[in-house]
Amino acid sequence: MPEKPKAIVEITKEVFKEPLEVIKRVTEHLEGVAFTKVIQTYVMENRNINFALERGGNIFFKGKLVWLGNRKDARDGTVFCVDTGSKTESVTPSPENTTKVILDPKKDLIKVSTESRVNCAICEKGIEIFDEIATCPACNAKAHKNHLLDWVKMKYNCPVCKTALNVSEDNQIYESS
Ligand SMILES: [Zn+2]
Ligand SMILES: [Zn+2]
Repeated sequence: MPEKPKAIVEITKEVFKEPLEVIKRVTEHLEGVAFTKVIQTYVMENRNINFALERGGNIFFKGKLVWLGNRKDARDGTVFCVDTGSKTESVTPSPENTTKVILDPKKDLIKVSTESRVNCAICEKGIEIFDEIATCPACNAKAHKNHLLDWVKMKYNCPVCKTALNVSEDNQIYESS
């Protein structure tokens, strides 16, 4: 069989869906990549995939992929755990913070193009890729997690739709009416 040209592959759709879809594309295009499934996580057996975040043409974060997993909330998507050499960080590309994800087989690289696409309903600043997001369960308004938690703990409602809300002991926001 003739060798396939190692073209750059877009995997945005797969990343926004689930880790298994990402792994299918990665193992299809990168040779010798192996993952071990540990509960809901896919751990890299050989740490040879580079992971980078880019904004406006500049790489501002890079490291080696350690594992991929499902999001901790109920939403579709993929969490990437990345070892930068000095620490490990979890990165969750989503439609709110990411324009495109590519797989570059020549560089063994997954590159995420980030851009803040949603503003916080409270401080009105852009929600960036490392910011934790919280969502109003009634109207789906999005805010920085700390900002929405603080707001609900003080006012017991949503800043946008005014639905009565409360915060559980494990910091989940729920409708209280
Ligand atoms: Zn905010
Ligand atoms: Zn709301």
